[in-house]
Amino acid sequence: MGFFSTLGDIFRVLRHTFRQTMTRPFTYFYPFEDRYYPDTTRGRHIHIRKNCTACAQCVKACPTIAIRIDKQDRMYEKDAALHFDYTRCIFCGLCVQACKFNALFHTKIVDLSEETREDLQYGPDRMGTLERKPLKWRGRTFR
Ligand code: SF4
Ligand code: SF4
Repeated sequence: MGFFSTLGDIFRVLRHTFRQTMTRPFTYFYPFEDRYYPDTTRGRHIHIRKNCTACAQCVKACPTIAIRIDKQDRMYEKDAALHFDYTRCIFCGLCVQACKFNALFHTKIVDLSEETREDLQYGPDRMGTLERKPLKWRGRTFR
């Protein structure tokens, strides 16, 4: 291998390195940066209580017994509170398919990790909103 061939290799490496510093990385700055998820993503659910009729079809459809319904807890005339156990849910989507009243949907929120198992029990307060705890890092707040 001659001197000029080695020099050419070094030049190609330097050119490649320079190009890479100028391009956006393929990775995401997770979890501080939300990546794109398609509309069909089966993330955690949202429960629209004003549409809910407390029919419990979602509870019956669930193969992992991840949903509990509390018909005594009402905000409207016919609705019920839903409690989701995200330590059991496998995100199969059967509960959403079973709901004929547009009261239960998947969202694109897929990062559900928590510090304790208890925090993965979602009561009606969390099932009705898309809000999440803000992420703080180095003095900056994300989300
Ligand atoms: S997505 Fe599947 S496992 Fe999860 S609550 Fe709905 S029916 Fe149950
Ligand atoms: S969310 Fe849908 S399927 Fe579940 S109880 Fe309410 S109306 Fe029935």
